Amino acid sequence: MKNFSVIGSGVMGRGIAYTAALSGYEVKLHDINETALENAREYIEKEMNKSAERGYVSDEKVETALKSITYTADFEETAKNADVVIEAVLENMDLKIDIFKRLDEQCPPHTLLATNTSTMSPTEIGAQLSRPKKFLAMHFFNPVHKMKLIEIIRGLDTSDETVALAKEVGERLGKQTVEVNEFPGFVTSRMNCLIGNEAMNMLMEGVASAEDIDKALKLGLNHPMGPLELADLVGLDTRLRNMEYLYQTLGEKYRPCPLLIKYVKAGRLGRKSGKGFYNYDKN
Ligand code: NAD
Repeated sequence: MKNFSVIGSGVMGRGIAYTAALSGYEVKLHDINETALENAREYIEKEMNKSAERGYVSDEKVETALKSITYTADFEETAKNADVVIEAVLENMDLKIDIFKRLDEQCPPHTLLATNTSTMSPTEIGAQLSRPKKFLAMHFFNPVHKMKLIEIIRGLDTSDETVALAKEVGERLGKQTVEVNEFPGFVTSRMNCLIGNEAMNMLMEGVASAEDIDKALKLGLNHPMGPLELADLVGLDTRLRNMEYLYQTLGEKYRPCPLLIKYVKAGRLGRKSGKGFYNYDKN
């Protein structure tokens, strides 16, 4: 397993590419948007160099890893020799199905195909492919190079060999894995979306300020991050798509908070746009 391809170079795709490159893979990072690819390149170079300066990784390793990443808008090039493909495009089922159908046609027969969806059904995507056995979800966490977990979600037809291979890939990326049987939102998103939405409802109801809600959860419940700062890190557009899917599949308790909908309409998407529940200096 040498060739590691990532589709989508946004918040998650760039992080997965970063981690794969430092784990010794030859990485192709693909996006349809050239600006997104350029932003990903800047992010990866800056973050890797920062890690080297802080002594977490050697200069030589960073140099090799940076050389091993190809940034490309060419889909065919990304698919054709891949041993592993992780898809990290928007949380939209039709888009994900379209991408995996194309990967199914263009990747070699042995390729492990995985979606980084936060909530959606790998069975539904796998059912559209000629090789549902080779397909599953590998749910990474943000920021990928720091977070230790990958949730591995099998679809109905995913084979045991594919699950074992995904665990092997996870280990090589320096992560721990948990195996989850498919259900909307898996373990983590199902829980995290609920906590975040409740925090947004409290903010909307005037229960406390954003700062005090986050502080209360950090100091009172020992959460490492407050739910509102975490939503800003995830991206409020991504969080809204996650909530909408969980609302459709799991019902009323996942109804997205109106404040979240309003912020997304206003273009307040969290860290990536410079403003969400908090303001960020984009540099
Ligand atoms: P993002 O909006 O930051 O990035 C998505 C990228 O996909 C963009 O760069 C966009 O240009 C690209 N894209 C769109 N259509 C494409 C296409 N047809 N081909 C190639 N690229 C295309 O989103 P994100 O936050 O990185 O989320 C990606 C996936 O990861 C979603 O399924 C999300 O639910 C999941 N996820 C997100 C987080 C998080 O914290 N943000 C955590 C775990 C999982």
